[in-house]
Amino acid sequence: MHKIGVIPGDGIGPEVIREARKVLDAVMEKRDLSLEFEEFPLGAGHYLQTGETVSEETLQRLARKKAILLGAMGDPRVKPGILEKGILLRLRFHFDQYVNLRPVRLYEGVPNPLAGKNKKIDMTVVRENTEDFYVGLGGRVRGGLSKSAFELIRRAYEVKFDVGIDLQNETELAFQIGVISRHGARRVIEYAFQLAKMKELKLVTSVDKANVLTEVYGLWREEVDVLAAKYKIKREFQYVDAVALHMVRSPERFQLLVTPNLFGDILTDLGAALQGGLGFAPSGNINPSGVSMFEPVHGSAPDIAGKKKANPVGAILSAGLMLDTIGEKEAAADIERAVMQVLKSRKFRTADIGGKTSTPKVGDAIVSRVLSRR
Ligand code: ATP
Repeated sequence: MHKIGVIPGDGIGPEVIREARKVLDAVMEKRDLSLEFEEFPLGAGHYLQTGETVSEETLQRLARKKAILLGAMGDPRVKPGILEKGILLRLRFHFDQYVNLRPVRLYEGVPNPLAGKNKKIDMTVVRENTEDFYVGLGGRVRGGLSKSAFELIRRAYEVKFDVGIDLQNETELAFQIGVISRHGARRVIEYAFQLAKMKELKLVTSVDKANVLTEVYGLWREEVDVLAAKYKIKREFQYVDAVALHMVRSPERFQLLVTPNLFGDILTDLGAALQGGLGFAPSGNINPSGVSMFEPVHGSAPDIAGKKKANPVGAILSAGLMLDTIGEKEAAADIERAVMQVLKSRKFRTADIGGKTSTPKVGDAIVSRVLSRR
């Protein structure tokens, strides 16, 4: 039995998570699979009532779960950043979910910007989730002498930066420090190669900009080489600008991309567009030996919340990705197959792809495909 923490969250989060839960109930009925759900009412409502984002007690309860399924965070009534930083990022760091896993697969029946080009789009993006230019170290300096002290605390290391700046002339300067540790690079790249091995892939593409940002991505490349040799899988290095071009022009050439945090952030949105839009994109924030969290890539979409217009496919595929990651491969495959059949039929389409089907009706269609024998 697997214990699953469920955080429906804000906006369309509860609507799409309801459908994902229905589909999970259906696979439980079909397979010998037992999942026990506990809901956590985190999000804007809870924050506005109590002033609290996540309590220590909630973190402790979540720590006892096998995985977490999350809808979305964000609400127009709350200043941007509070819920995202206070809940999403807090959970990511607390559980040290250092892998952001983003399958980018285009299913038959889903319109996309490359329509008519007959392109096969089926790649996995493994994005580093805790370092790079997203460590939050930076500042602003006006002319003259200044000193800034920063601290970066991770489970595996603690680092202090003293940045002394002597800025001549009366101008202003902003700076940001990017950090890639050998430990941080190794563990995510190792995850990528392990995944490639499990999926029997032939090529891992490492994304960087090592010709310009030579230090951080130089170290990254060293680790890619070490792990490519260890797992005996071919690797290629590509600059992020070339990857962006190829993702549009010839997406079929990619099997698995492993990327530092910043470039991964950008490329995965491009990936979401290629797979039909935000409503179709699943994701996992993974710690292979800890508690991982799965969520659709989209946000709370307040413009359509409560209207039964949200596309639940991203959330349903996230539930499938969760099962796959915790080892329930057959149940995960059931979910993906059901989603594929429903999309291929083109009968149940939400408004984001020009249809009129409501959120629960799309969920119902997927449930009935899961339960069907064919
Ligand atoms: P947040 O601040 O929570 O990120 P947002 O509106 O800025 O919210 P998204 O929620 O990602 O960002 O939405 C961006 C756009 O995509 C919106 O117009 C939204 O309606 C649309 N959208 C996002 N997710 C879905 C979905 N599952 N189904 C249909 N449309 C969606």
